[in-house]
This record gives sequence, structure tokens and C-alpha cells, in this order.
Amino acid sequence: MKKIFIFFITSMFVSCYQIESPRTEKLLGTVCSVNAYSDGTKKLYDELFNRLRKINSEFNIYSAESELSKVNSNAGEQAVEVSEDVFYLVKKSLEYYQLSEGAFNIAVGPLVKLWGINSQNNFAPENLPKEAEIRNALNLINPKNIDLIPSGSSNEKSKIFLKEKGMKLDLGGIVKGYATDELVKILKNNNVKKAIIDLGGNVFLYGEKFKGKKWNVGIKNPHDKLGQAALILSVDGNKTVVTSGKYERFFEKDGKQFHHILDPKIGRPVESSLASVTIISDSSCYADALSTSAFVLGLNDFSRIIKFDDSVEYIFMDSDLSTIYASKNLEGKIQINVDSIKEIKFVD
Ligand code: AMP
Ligand code: MG
Repeated sequence: MKKIFIFFITSMFVSCYQIESPRTEKLLGTVCSVNAYSDGTKKLYDELFNRLRKINSEFNIYSAESELSKVNSNAGEQAVEVSEDVFYLVKKSLEYYQLSEGAFNIAVGPLVKLWGINSQNNFAPENLPKEAEIRNALNLINPKNIDLIPSGSSNEKSKIFLKEKGMKLDLGGIVKGYATDELVKILKNNNVKKAIIDLGGNVFLYGEKFKGKKWNVGIKNPHDKLGQAALILSVDGNKTVVTSGKYERFFEKDGKQFHHILDPKIGRPVESSLASVTIISDSSCYADALSTSAFVLGLNDFSRIIKFDDSVEYIFMDSDLSTIYASKNLEGKIQINVDSIKEIKFVD
């Protein structure tokens, strides 16, 4: 009996600490995967993916039960108690609204709904919104009407109140970055040596790749259905690489492309020659907000806003792939992988 018991305990211990293959699950509306190499035990992957499931349950606007959905459905009526995750990320997003001069706006929910962006069937040429509908939705996206009510004591939760009926928060432009940073905290706590986190294109290269070697990350060719890289970027460890691209979700009508990144000033998908913007930084949350912002702002305004922040590098890729614009410090770190790119221009 004793022997069987010891065997049982030992085998439980071994299975918990055995190295598993990288884990992938569909969460946060995308494919999430983590490879923790020689530290990738069941125990570690369980902790990482439980954290992702918790974040998913708080921010998922497709489930009426999520905290964010409750904040949205109580708009104009009452303040709703939220977790520290939701309170923190909404507050942080409002800082990015200021930094981006209004380009990054989590109150875009009514416009996202109107365009059908995050729905399976409604994001289609036959559902183009009417001018009057866009004007109405634009009246509901002012972040000044997001009221953050911090908790007064440790046994009380913080609350969020959307002051106008019909307002809706959508954190789709930042939550993957936030989740990535939360996973990095877990890797640190567990003394993991190296890992790759990839939450639907929000990539974090954790630790040193191998004896001073840099990590290589492909930046997608927007025209390649198989996701072949147009550029190969070489980056140090503990950096995140985040791309916002219009090829991720779009439809075409009369030769015009309608995609999922909205210009909050006009209530329509951004109209520009850009195919994607990639941000390289230390924080994935910051990089996620910045990549969406940069797509809205375009190269000139974005580089002006970010001029004094040395922690941020960027790559702007046009749809025609002829010229790539990248920040100065990336010189020597980008390899061209398709013939159509003739030049990379490095900007200060
Ligand atoms: P990303 O792929 O990170 O650039 O985020 C795009 C997602 O963010 C969209 O699917 C919308 O849910 C949301 N979104 C669209 N436009 C904006 C915007 N201007 N500011 C903040 N979030 C946005
Ligand atoms: Mg983003």
C-alpha cells in the first residue's frame, strides 16, 4: 500500500515537472501560444494559461458575463464593480488616448459594433453603415465620459461608470499586449530562462536566445496568404514585437478596402497607404496601444509624438511594399525577404 502511494506521489511529481511541448490555445479572439523551452512544465503552462483564461473572462465583449460587457450594458445607468485588471487597463488606455492625441480610443465600441468589425457575419460589404449612423456613434465615443471610481478601501472594489447610454468600451487594441506582459511576470517569478510568447502576433522574446545570439522575428508580407515574412528583424531578448495590420480583418467594396482599425475622428476605417505598423519595445501593453495609434496617425505624426522615447522602435510598411520606413536605431537589424522591397529609409 505504502509503495503504491509513494509511486502515485512520485508519478504526479514527475508529470508536473516533465518538459512538455509548447502550448497553444484559442483565447482573446486569437491563437495564443507559449514556448518555454527547457522550463516548459505542465505546472508552468497551466499557470500561464489560467492567467490568460482569467483575462479573457474579464475583457471578452462577446460574453454577456464578462466584466467589460457588464460595464457596457450598464452605460448611462450605474457604475459597475470591476477587477484590478480591468480598472488598471482602462486607466492606462486613457493615458494612451492623451499620448496619441485621440488616435487610440477604447470608447470606439459603438463604431466597432456599427461596422460589425468583431462579428463573424456583419463585417461585410452589404452592411456598410449610413452617414447618420456614423454621426450618432461618434457622439458616443468621448473618453471624458468614462468615469473611473477607485475603491476607498481594501475590501471594496473599484468601479467604472460610462456616463452616456449606448457607450461601449472595446479593449481589443490593447488587451493582447497587457496579457503578454502578465505572462512575462509569471515567467520571471518561475525563473524561466527563455521563452517565446505569441498572442496572435503580439510577440515577446523572453531571455537570451542562445549565447549572445539575437532572436529573429518575421514581419508579415501583407500580400502573402501563407504569412511569409517580408522582413526579418533581429532583436535582443526581453523585447516585444507588435504589429497592427489592415490585412488582419478586412473586406473590399468597389475597389476600396474596409478594415478593422478605425480613425476615431471620422468614425471610419483609417484610409492610408499603410499595410502595417510594427512596434518594438520593452512593454507589450504599450507597444500594442502604440501600434494601433501609429496606424491611425501615420508616420509623421507618430514619429513626432514618440520622438523623445528611446525605448520605442518602429517599422511602417506600405501596401505596395516599395519603401519601408523604420526608426534609426533599427539600422543593420532588418533583413529584406521579398524582391519588391527596394529600400528601407531610416528616420530620426
Ligand atoms: P490592433 O489589431 O491591436 O491594432 O487592434 C485593433 C482592434 O482595436 C480592433 O479590432 C478594434 O476592436 C479596436 N480598435 C479599432 N480602432 C481603434 C482605435 N482607433 N483605438 C482603439 N482601439 C481600436
Ligand atoms: Mg494594438
